[in-house]
Amino acid sequence: MKFTIVTVFPDMIKEISSWGVFGKALSNSNIEMEIVNLRDYTHDRHKTTDDYVYGGGSGMVMKPEPFYEFMDDYSSKNAGYRVVYPSPQGKHFTSEDAHRLAKYDNIVFFCGRYEGIDERVMNLVDEELSIGDFVTSGGELPAMVMVDAIGRYRPGVIGSFESVENDSFYNGMLDHENYTRPDEYRGMKVPEILLSGNHKLIDDERKKNSLFRTIIKRPDLFYKMDLDQENKKTIVKLIKELYSNAE
Ligand code: SAM
Repeated sequence: MKFTIVTVFPDMIKEISSWGVFGKALSNSNIEMEIVNLRDYTHDRHKTTDDYVYGGGSGMVMKPEPFYEFMDDYSSKNAGYRVVYPSPQGKHFTSEDAHRLAKYDNIVFFCGRYEGIDERVMNLVDEELSIGDFVTSGGELPAMVMVDAIGRYRPGVIGSFESVENDSFYNGMLDHENYTRPDEYRGMKVPEILLSGNHKLIDDERKKNSLFRTIIKRPDLFYKMDLDQENKKTIVKLIKELYSNAE
């Protein structure tokens, strides 16, 4: 899979993508990262990529020509691609979007700056995605948040896919709580079941914990959950436990 990041700050992307699991995936060639300097698609001495806003007002807007010239070049060399514009006005990016986008061979991100990108560039964009209801100064960090989340769904990026499947949202629930050594710290103990070595009990406890956390922390997710027989049984166990603790 290849991610192509179109930006006026290529060094920023280089720096972020060299770290952690993602950096490793790049060096193992599981994922390819192409960083495109939008200024390479300009023709003036100053390599201008932005200009004043028509109609007046403060700030600058990114010009359409460099994006169109980049796409002329890119589309002649690549197929099966999806163009994403990270934007505060887009649909909220979710785990489902990450999973869906991970099926593409090529994804292009247009990183906006200043007041954003000339509206005519939206004719080149397949989808606008937002990382939340706030405004960042540029599309680079939002793009890299999405690249990281999408990359996790590609085989070979995370050592064991099991850890992706256990992550929050994968099955519509939050992840269970986790502990590491020591088994007691400042009087706080790791739940005994987790030290028991009984995998069936540990598994049941984790499922219960996931469900409980989802109900408490994200009731909106819980309402959307498809409650199969197993989940229903887990809820009954949880209620019984809470009831017996309250007695
Ligand atoms: N004037 C624009 C607006 O209010 O819709 C915001 C422009 S913002 C300063 C510059 C760029 O940052 C945007 O073009 C977009 O690419 C990116 N950006 C800002 N907030 C974002 C968010 N929440 N999610 C995704 N991208 C975002």
